[in-house]
Amino acid sequence: MGIIDSTYFRIRCPQCGTVNIAETHQRGSNWSPGSWGSISGGGDFSLSVKDDDVSGPDIVSATCKQCGEAAEVELHGFAKPKDW
Ligand SMILES: [Zn+2]
Repeated sequence: MGIIDSTYFRIRCPQCGTVNIAETHQRGSNWSPGSWGSISGGGDFSLSVKDDDVSGPDIVSATCKQCGEAAEVELHGFAKPKDW
């Protein structure tokens, strides 16, 4: 059992420029995919999350806790980005 799939999100506030990277991982094996974990990271934002057992949880919207601005959420997929 290990991590077989991952999803990374980049969350950015257009007002203050705060950037968080949130991530979620699916555990299991190739022949027996398990469940997705909840999203971690993104603590500077209030996240609205939609759970999906097949494709994993998705961030529907994010609000900056600092300024209350709606943040931009960019889905990055499997690979963890180096330069964000
Ligand atoms: Zn902000």
